[in-house]
Amino acid sequence: MRLYLIFIIIFITFLTTSCKQADSDWIDRSRHEGLHKVNYSESFEIYATEVNPQHIKNTVRSLEQAKTYFDKVFDENLTFAVLFVDNPNWNTYAFSPPPGMPQAHHQGNMVLGLGRSVLAMRAEQGLKRVPDSRLGVLKQHFGEEINLDLFYRDALSLHELGHLYQFYKTGKGTQRYWLNEFFGNLCQVAAAKNLATQDVFNRMDSYQLFLINADQWGELNFKTLKQFEEDYFEVLIQGQNYGWYQSQFYLKAKELYSKFGDEFLNKFRDFLIAINPDKVDRMDNEELKELMTNTFGKQVVDILEWKHDN
Ligand SMILES: [Zn+2]
Repeated sequence: MRLYLIFIIIFITFLTTSCKQADSDWIDRSRHEGLHKVNYSESFEIYATEVNPQHIKNTVRSLEQAKTYFDKVFDENLTFAVLFVDNPNWNTYAFSPPPGMPQAHHQGNMVLGLGRSVLAMRAEQGLKRVPDSRLGVLKQHFGEEINLDLFYRDALSLHELGHLYQFYKTGKGTQRYWLNEFFGNLCQVAAAKNLATQDVFNRMDSYQLFLINADQWGELNFKTLKQFEEDYFEVLIQGQNYGWYQSQFYLKAKELYSKFGDEFLNKFRDFLIAINPDKVDRMDNEELKELMTNTFGKQVVDILEWKHDN
């Protein structure tokens, strides 16, 4: 009888641990075709357009630490793959230009730039028009030669990883793109705050605040959340305009993380899972706001309030 009981206990333990294992099959491996497998990490899979890709080890170390942090916060053991893709091969593997624009696919892959990306180099050109006296804080965190791949690849990889922890549970389904992007920013801020050093956070924060203060977005065709939903891919293509939306989400994410901490990430992901249109009907804005107020409280909803809707 006792042996029988022990067997049952072992079996139940096996069942619960195997259920907690992430489903590695969710990774779409057809996306890795033509790439080289790179053994820089034990924590996740890496593929690249080069056999021995250079200058990605810091990104890999940050992602490893971020995975440890997210696994704990979301109670997962997520498997995923990171694709480092150079400029000439970008359009083969990524769904949106320009080369270096970090992105997460719905099935377990994220794509990051490799080498000096077109996106970062364009942004660096923009910095050349800024008087040296205003670049002080950036140079303090990026070094004398401001390399913006440290922002677009290193820092934003944490944002894309956050998306993967969502997509793992929701697939493609989403009530609102803006909720996804707010969540991406929340994950980005939280993971960066929890890395071994604050270097990545300081670069992310100084560059984001620099962009906000410089206020050189050019003409913004889109500013409302309604436009963000209805013209999402158009906004995405108009890089500056997408950057402007992201900067708004970033400020809100930073405020909410500082007020509500790690627990808020998990609560927010649970909310995204619960309102997945695969499970519930599409909600109108009033319904959504009411549900968010009931779930998170008025303080959170007030911070998320969009001031550019008119
Ligand atoms: Zn995003």
